Amino acid sequence: QQARIGVTGLAVMGRNLARNLARHGHPVAVHNRTAARTRAFIEEFGDEGVFLPAESIQQFADSLERPRRAIIMVKAGAPTDAVIDELAAVLEPGDMIVDGGNAAFQDTRRREAALRRRGLHFVGTGISGGEEGALNGPSIMPGGSDEAYQALGPLLEDIAAKADDGTPCCTHVGPDGAGHFVKMVHNGIEYADMQLIAEAYDLLRHAAGLRPAEIAEIFRGWNEGRLESYLIEITAEVLAHTDAATGGPFVDIVLDQAEQKGTGRWTVQTALDLGAPVSGIAEAVFARSLSGSAELRAAARGLPGPGETWLDSAAGDRFADDVEQALYASKIVAYAQGFNEIQAGSAEYDWGIDPGAMAAIWRGGCIIRARFLDRIKEAYDSDPHRPTILTDPHFSDALGDAQAAWRRVVSTAAELGVPAPGFSAALAYYDALRAERLPAALIQGLRDYFGAHTYRRTDREGSFHTLWGGDRSEVPAG
Ligand code: NDP
Repeated sequence: QQARIGVTGLAVMGRNLARNLARHGHPVAVHNRTAARTRAFIEEFGDEGVFLPAESIQQFADSLERPRRAIIMVKAGAPTDAVIDELAAVLEPGDMIVDGGNAAFQDTRRREAALRRRGLHFVGTGISGGEEGALNGPSIMPGGSDEAYQALGPLLEDIAAKADDGTPCCTHVGPDGAGHFVKMVHNGIEYADMQLIAEAYDLLRHAAGLRPAEIAEIFRGWNEGRLESYLIEITAEVLAHTDAATGGPFVDIVLDQAEQKGTGRWTVQTALDLGAPVSGIAEAVFARSLSGSAELRAAARGLPGPGETWLDSAAGDRFADDVEQALYASKIVAYAQGFNEIQAGSAEYDWGIDPGAMAAIWRGGCIIRARFLDRIKEAYDSDPHRPTILTDPHFSDALGDAQAAWRRVVSTAAELGVPAPGFSAALAYYDALRAERLPAALIQGLRDYFGAHTYRRTDREGSFHTLWGGDRSEVPAG
């Protein structure tokens, strides 16, 4: 018997993907650099389906039906290149290598081009949902050629999470690096989403004076409404959790330094290159870096703050509702920014990504799964080329309804000295987009003054320069 598909790299992700495939009735070849891990896998999970264990990469290739489909699930970076090289040496033209790791999309573009020259398909695939998702249904974002998707798509759609309407959370994202690009932005949005949730918690705790268990109840309530999502649900769980050792709230004994593996940072670095203003995601990445800057924080701890540090009780009563509004509005903005980065990447690399389809495949399986993604899908269904989801009537109405509360929350945060960079940045973005005129005009004037960088006028075509050091008359540029 031959395997329909293979997985090499049997750490948590690869192991669970292989099991997911087998449970769906697909015979799976399994391989790992350290063969002991393969043997342990068969011992533990061998009865869950048909597995063909391979001790060598050659044996792995031999056990696959043709054209071969091989998924790599190893550490991103140099290990992935090493495994690609080994695999490519034993594969034949027409075979497919799927990289399901968290690769940088530029690496995926490079690898795809190199393998294409050898007649091999390379499918850089974003997989979200962690180990639980890999086993029970992740959100899958495959890039690569149409031909490769035809051969792989049905298998991947089979093991992907299903949205509430039954559609698989997997679609062909676009050529070469498109899948990993979209997975990267997904993670960036996840950073922003978590930062906003953390700020909501912080304000309820340190402005309204609520206890973690009370805040957990508030989040539970929010999860029944428009904010319903996996992250809101698990926030309630974490906040309600009591530390066994101290008997106090778990959240109080966790060191307040957030870590990061890099995909959020890549999202922002890429956005800078593309000129895509993802301020909410950037603030989320910076907030993690700031939290981890222990020395800096220790040095600054004694700096003066405001005299008033708590809301009065009347304001406190309606504050949770205000925070819900601010959270929803800021979340809309963070997603709007992320989707704009996807559109910018798609335009830059000619990927033809359908943003609504991305919203659709994030509805299940992944960390940012949420009811709200249906709305984003609808926004793009009604106009696939819309410049921003903010102008969709559902979202513009929600922002209009939320804005008074949103502004109250941001000003309360500022007045009481509770940092809310995500809420503030989202509101500033919203106001900047709305503005009739931006002070960018003054910036252009300054650039022209000190560097003769020229400016354009609102009333005439062309570029101009003012003779600032002379008689201040205006001359055409160039
Ligand atoms: P790890 O990232 O911890 O990688 C461990 C695996 O990589 C082992 O199978 C190991 O083999 C193999 N490996 C490492 N170096 C080499 C090498 N030079 N040659 C061959 N094999 C090598 O595993 P995870 O399962 O956590 O993640 C796999 C991929 O999935 C990563 O790219 C990760 O970023 C991505 N991912 C992870 C998620 C998660 O929640 N963990 C979620 C989504 C994606 P050996 O046993 O021989 O050491």
